[in-house]
Amino acid sequence: MSKGYDVVVIGAGPGGYIAAIRAAQHGMSVACIDEWKNKDGKNAFGGTWLNAGCIPSKALLESSELYHRARHEFSKHGISTGDVSMDVAKMQRRRAGIVRQLTGGIGGLFRAAKVDGLVGHGKLLSDKKVEFTPVDGDPEIIDSKHVILASGSGPIELPFAKFDGETIIDSWDAIELDAVPARLGVIGAGVIGLELGSVWSRLGSEVTVLEAMEDFLFMADRDVAKVAAADFKKQGLDIRLGAKVTSATVGKTGVRVDYEDKNGAQSIEVDKLIVAVGRRPYTDGLFADDAGIQIDERGFIVVDDECRTRVKGVYAIGDCVRGTMLAHKASEEGTMVADLISGESAEMNYDVIPSVLYTNPEIAWTGKTEEQVKASGRAYKTGTFPFAADGRAKAMEQTSGMVKIISAEDDDEILGVHIVGPMAGELIAEAVLALEFSASTEDLQRTIHAHPSLSEAMHEAALAVDNRALNYPNK
Ligand SMILES: Cc1cc2nc3c(=O)[nH]c(=O)nc-3n(C[C@H](O)[C@H](O)[C@H](O)COP(=O)(O)OP(=O)(O)OC[C@H]3O[C@@H](n4cnc5c(N)ncnc54)[C@H](O)[C@@H]3O)c2cc1C
Repeated sequence: MSKGYDVVVIGAGPGGYIAAIRAAQHGMSVACIDEWKNKDGKNAFGGTWLNAGCIPSKALLESSELYHRARHEFSKHGISTGDVSMDVAKMQRRRAGIVRQLTGGIGGLFRAAKVDGLVGHGKLLSDKKVEFTPVDGDPEIIDSKHVILASGSGPIELPFAKFDGETIIDSWDAIELDAVPARLGVIGAGVIGLELGSVWSRLGSEVTVLEAMEDFLFMADRDVAKVAAADFKKQGLDIRLGAKVTSATVGKTGVRVDYEDKNGAQSIEVDKLIVAVGRRPYTDGLFADDAGIQIDERGFIVVDDECRTRVKGVYAIGDCVRGTMLAHKASEEGTMVADLISGESAEMNYDVIPSVLYTNPEIAWTGKTEEQVKASGRAYKTGTFPFAADGRAKAMEQTSGMVKIISAEDDDEILGVHIVGPMAGELIAEAVLALEFSASTEDLQRTIHAHPSLSEAMHEAALAVDNRALNYPNK
């Protein structure tokens, strides 16, 4: 029997499930197909984001941060705890419980929105037909007026350090470790490498991060990267830049990792090695050869600014298309595409997507870095304000870092905001809104911020752009 829908979405990660719900809100009939299987063999909605990415990694970051604070900071508050210990199995049960609750929640959201959540493999054929193979049944053909491909991404494997799931592991395995490795190696000092390195370092691992690039956090503003590098060093993360790994060999006592840096050939030995060198779009078995979908040289599905593929009525969103690989970027693309299909006008402002590293200190930014503004040739001014001068940050014992604002010399428009410090991932929302509405620093200066709050650092940084900071000496 051939079923029919207005919209079929393949993939129920943050791109796909949001697109499906939004399309259903527009009154369309929608099915969302997903084949994700967890390590316990059970299928679950939510994709990488919920099962192996953002949410489980943040659960572990929170647990490990609390453990670290209990050991190193509580005494400053006058709190004695005696011996603090970490039950890794219990920490992992909490992480799994959060994931289970949220993946189940998507099923509930689908039922409430009348989206058919179909568990199994989806494949786009020609003429917008979709072949759906249920996990426990025979393939069937679904007709659809529109199809949204949201198949996500997978970790990049290095040919000389192949994953074995045990010793040389990807980020998902690193999230599910059941014991603290004494010596942990990480290849890649990007967001995922630094977050997972931080988790296991706080729990007691001796962590060495090998990064091929010479610049630390090359995508971040240099001032922010400098503060972060110093803080990570203080925490004991051994980050080696310009270190090009050439081989990883598993032996009896661990993994020997060979690399080259400016001083020549080097090597380290670790008990576990996380390879976190980036992710590649995942499109295996996603479409038939005659479906008409075009792939670029890096494997991304080719789309225009509105996520249209070259096949009329077929869209692609999230990690499987160009742009930053972030859950909120995938979700916003899903919303835009569902709105476009419904006939509404919609667009994405790719210039103000916030980026966040949930390390300690947190790092967050939106808009352009100072280096990018300088390269654009536009005259600009900057203002910074350190958390060390913020009363709330002092009360929290979280005084490292700052807010930095870059704005145009001519019309004062805010061009970029960069934060390193406590709750940067929350504070950045104000900056995103400011950039979305093309606000000036004067707009921020004249906006009342609650006292005492971390957000006052944003207010003061805006004032500092015009040398009017009130609680810190100006330049
Ligand atoms: C360790 C880690 C931490 C991260 N932390 C953050 C963070 O803090 N913030 C953030 O914004 N981003 C984070 N990310 C990135 C984020 O997880 C991704 O950007 C996001 O999940 C992409 O969403 P998506 O919908 O495009 O794809 P995915 O979430 O990968 O979902 C795709 C889904 O499609 C399914 N699928 C694929 N092909 C088929 C098919 N043919 N048939 C049926 N189903 C199919 C897959 O099984 C999967 O369930 C993190 C990633 C990792 C690995």
